[in-house]
Amino acid sequence: MTSPADKENVKPSNFLRQIIEKDLAEGTYAARQWGGSPGDAAHHAAGQSDPAKVRLRFPPEPNGYLHVGHAKSICLNFGLARDYGGVCHLRFDDTNPEKEDTEYVDSIKDAVLWLGFDWHNGGENNLYQASDYFDFMYRAAEYLIESGNAYVDEQSADEMRHNRGDFGKPGTNSPFRARTTAENLARFREMRDAKLPDGAAVLRAKIDMASPNINMRDPAIYRIRRAHHHNTGDKWCIYPMYTYAHPIEDALEQITHSICTLEFEDQRPFYDWLLDRLAEETTLPDGRVVGGLIATPHPRQYEFARLNLTYVMTSKRKLAQLVTEKRVSGWDDPRMPTIVGLRRRGYTPESIQLFAERIGVTKSDSWIDYSTLEGALRDTLDPIAPRAMAVLDPVKLVLTNWDEVMGAGALDDCSAPVHPHLPDLGKRHFKIGKEVWIERTDYEETPPKGFFRLFPAHTNASGQAIAASKVRLKYGHVIECVGATKDANGNVTEVQARLIPDTKSGTPGSDAIKVKGVITWVGVNDAVQAEVRLYDRLFTVEHPGTGDHDFLEELNTDSLKTVTAFVEPSLANVPAGTRFQFERHGYFVTDLVDHKVGKVVFNRVTGMKDSWVK
Ligand code: ATP
Ligand code: MG
Repeated sequence: MTSPADKENVKPSNFLRQIIEKDLAEGTYAARQWGGSPGDAAHHAAGQSDPAKVRLRFPPEPNGYLHVGHAKSICLNFGLARDYGGVCHLRFDDTNPEKEDTEYVDSIKDAVLWLGFDWHNGGENNLYQASDYFDFMYRAAEYLIESGNAYVDEQSADEMRHNRGDFGKPGTNSPFRARTTAENLARFREMRDAKLPDGAAVLRAKIDMASPNINMRDPAIYRIRRAHHHNTGDKWCIYPMYTYAHPIEDALEQITHSICTLEFEDQRPFYDWLLDRLAEETTLPDGRVVGGLIATPHPRQYEFARLNLTYVMTSKRKLAQLVTEKRVSGWDDPRMPTIVGLRRRGYTPESIQLFAERIGVTKSDSWIDYSTLEGALRDTLDPIAPRAMAVLDPVKLVLTNWDEVMGAGALDDCSAPVHPHLPDLGKRHFKIGKEVWIERTDYEETPPKGFFRLFPAHTNASGQAIAASKVRLKYGHVIECVGATKDANGNVTEVQARLIPDTKSGTPGSDAIKVKGVITWVGVNDAVQAEVRLYDRLFTVEHPGTGDHDFLEELNTDSLKTVTAFVEPSLANVPAGTRFQFERHGYFVTDLVDHKVGKVVFNRVTGMKDSWVK
């Protein structure tokens, strides 16, 4: 079997790696200059040969918390930069004035750092915000007008929509398309100077209203919007459209490979058209040479399939709705697929990186099974997580002959390795006495076939006499079941068994008696009470949010069960965010929010085995 470390060293090939390797081999970007910060062609020309072999970027809009899909994109972009001697920028795509919030900005920075990546590289701090480029974007827009590549359109929104045509029908030129450069420039400046009301005009690229690609039918690049911007305040009342802003952001930052999700594939021709226009030089009728605004070669866009994870919602907007409608306790609810949620749930950065590595990148949309994420978690936690015993559904077991055999009130020391394969981690210690907690499901009065845990002597369905079971209390003694006490409703309130002397684990002759069952337990005298939160999937359907009804109807109303459990004494004082493997039960973590001294709170990260396969 390959260890997770080995798996991590073998980077599966993917088409993006092939593209980067080819560019590196051919020296596509070898002659690039870097001005030390983002900027136009002149700024970079005055710089030095770029120390970064490739530049990538992760460009979130700060309008929500990042989710597992973003984590894939972070691992991809920062991972490729790391693997190919490059850097990855963190860029806040804040060109839309209305939605940003510094709470989101901070959470995004935290998420990237927590995942194990950093936008600092040597002395360079590659943390940028797109709104810092508004001046350049405006200048580029005037240049497009001057060079005959853009015009101010004053059709109504309806007319514009109508004249755009559709899939089978070419568009119709706007009556404003033939305006002179001077007229366009004057009108655009009026837009900028707040002389026109919101929505009265847009600046459009002048490309081809008959293009088979609707995105090339003179897309809007600037709109009028009187809105306060968190960075630029009230300086602007016109804002660039995303499809115009994004290529420019990439170009100013000297991004080599601009990786985005598949829905932008149809935008790629415009991405290239725009950057080609900004890079080229044009001689105007009056003899002036304009253009050459951005460095060459300009960035290239590549698309990959977004991550869809079964039973998981990966739409920021819908996740926001769960939070605002209080369907979950917050963005960091351990059931949320947000990075803060996964973190609180107990996922490690390593597990998410391994997950991203395993799913790779593809060019076609598909759904990844949730078990792939849990598998990556188990594979990264199993080799390192300290072990512990916990009883999640406790019932008391009384050893009826304890006082006789061990002495009244006696406690016997037991120990177990912290980790079976990491002897250096040492041992954990706990005590056994007359009373221990065991799992309620470990006792059956009339056991089903194949049940090897506690049952009393009985007569089975075929009339055979069956002897009482003998089991080992893990790391402790062998016991023989006697029976149980029940309450008026027939619920077991106490189980009784006899201790078999001289069978304690690790003592000579302890395995003289062979047992078929081994059960986990915690001593009543030294058990630590813990609140344990057992999470289930947040959605009941495999592809939530894809049906034609409200996605809220697909919420699992039974996704959280809280139990009072008992755990080993060694767990009394562990810090929040500490992960354990509870033997037989799976992986658990002390809660980052509610766990504190005197109140032990665990979240179940995942079970021992995959319980998702149908
Ligand atoms: P949402 O649709 O959930 O709001 P978004 O794409 O609008 O997400 P952005 O902040 O624009 O969110 O995303 C930042 C980056 O993360 C983009 O480059 C985007 O391609 C990538 N990304 C977003 N969702 C996914 C996903 N499910 N899988 C892979 N990458 C994603
Ligand atoms: Mg987006």
